[in-house]
Parts: sequence; structure tokens; C-alpha cells
Amino acid sequence: MTFDINTLTPLLARVAASGSLAPAYVITGSHPPALSLQALLFAKRLNCLSVTKDAACLTCAACKKIEKRTHPDVKHMGPEEGTIKIEPLRALQKELHLKALEGPWKIVILEEAHELTPSASNALLKILEEPPSKTVFLLTTVFYENLLETIRSRCQRVSLPLSQHAFALEPFADLHELLTLPTRTSERFELAHKIGSDETYFKQCLEILLIWYRDLLFYKEDLAPLSPLQEKRSLGETISRKFTRTHLYENLETVLNTKISLQTQVNRQLLAENLLLRLHV
Ligand SMILES: [Zn+2]
Repeated sequence: MTFDINTLTPLLARVAASGSLAPAYVITGSHPPALSLQALLFAKRLNCLSVTKDAACLTCAACKKIEKRTHPDVKHMGPEEGTIKIEPLRALQKELHLKALEGPWKIVILEEAHELTPSASNALLKILEEPPSKTVFLLTTVFYENLLETIRSRCQRVSLPLSQHAFALEPFADLHELLTLPTRTSERFELAHKIGSDETYFKQCLEILLIWYRDLLFYKEDLAPLSPLQEKRSLGETISRKFTRTHLYENLETVLNTKISLQTQVNRQLLAENLLLRLHV
């Protein structure tokens, strides 16, 4: 069975149809945009005004508001400056005690949940321990294991099948170069030039690098990650031996910092050059 990226995963479709929801779900997988899309689809399915054949219509006022992120009952949260801090969660706790405004469900989408600080995690736990009625939390993360055990135990896990990632590697003419990284500085500048030339491409490259260095950490432990870069497994196993764990973690940090800077910094070329000069090989 194959899944379309624009279709709700069977587990969430079943849950939505039954109307009997857990207080929280963690949507996991390797491709962040696919996780966000699932959370949005689920929110639409729950609050759609005109559900057809067990799916959200995508055209009613509620579906449109959710798409535009203006639906009053669907709250979006995520990292700010790299982490999800306690203050917004405290504010949320107060807010949730107000009655639902428009739809049947209040939905909180918490993206990149692995970025919750320990104090924010505890604030979330407090909410989940006494879940407000008709409220559901949708956490998304590519690093499920990084969530606190206590959070994991309070959420139902929804793993996206690989086919649902719709991870298009074909346009990545530079994929091999990106994964292996040229050792000569001039070649690195050349690659940086290509990466920095387009913002969308730059973002995709960063997502690939995040997945890649995470995969390498798995290979280092002789584990096989469920990854859209699975076909690069033998390359990954070879390369992972050259890295120390510290270097892999540092590379992940470098990529994450670049991702944050890309949101504000206009000089993409400089950012791409810095990235490629800082990454360990
Ligand atoms: Zn609708």
C-alpha cells in the first residue's frame, strides 16, 4: 500500500472518524515538511465544516483558516531562536481553559518538539496530565528519542511510512557532493555558490544534511535508521567511520544554526560559505 503525502495517515484517519482522541500525538518521520503537513491535515479533518468521504473538504471556511494559520482554535507553536521555551507554554495553559471558539476541537500543533527545553517539557507535561476537554496536541519531530520519556509516555506515536515523505532526491544534482563534501577549499566554495543561489534549494540541502548526520550517528552505532537516504547506506557506513561522535554532533549543530540564520540573514552566499567551511569531513 502506498500513501499520498496529501492524505491523512490511516491511523489518524481512523482516530478522526471515531471521534475518540488521545490527548496528544507525536507525528514522527524523517522529513519535517511531511510531518507538518500531517498535523495540518489532521487539524482540518477534525474541524472541517463539510467532511466528505471521511476526509476534510479543504475548501470550507475552517479548512481555509487552518491552512492560513488563522483558525482561532488551531494554535501553532515551534522553536524561537532554536528552542521552545516555557513562557509560551505557560500562556497556553491559561488560554486552553477558555472555551473553544469555532470548531469542535482545540488543536495545538507543536512543531520540532525535540527543541522543548526541560522546563517547557515539564510545563507541557502538566497540561497533558490533566488534559483540557476537546483539546488535542499534535507534536512533530524527526528526533523522537530526544523527547523526554515522560512526554513520550503521554503521547500516542504516529510514524509516517517512508513513501509518505515524498522526498524527492532526483533534483539534487549535488547530492553526492553534499554528502561527501569536497576536501579542496575551492571546490567547497563552488558548492557553496550553488547551494546559496536559491533559498528553497538551500533549505532542502540543510534538511538533507540534518538527516544525513543523524543517519551517520546511527551507522556509527551499527544501527539502521529508517531514512529517506537509505539508498546511501553503504556510503554512510563508510563515511561514519571517519567521524568522531563529537564531530557529528558539531556538524548537526552547525547545520541547525545555519537553518536559524537563514530565516533572518539575507546574505545567503556568505551563510552557505560559512556552513561548508565549518563542517567537519
Ligand atoms: Zn473543510
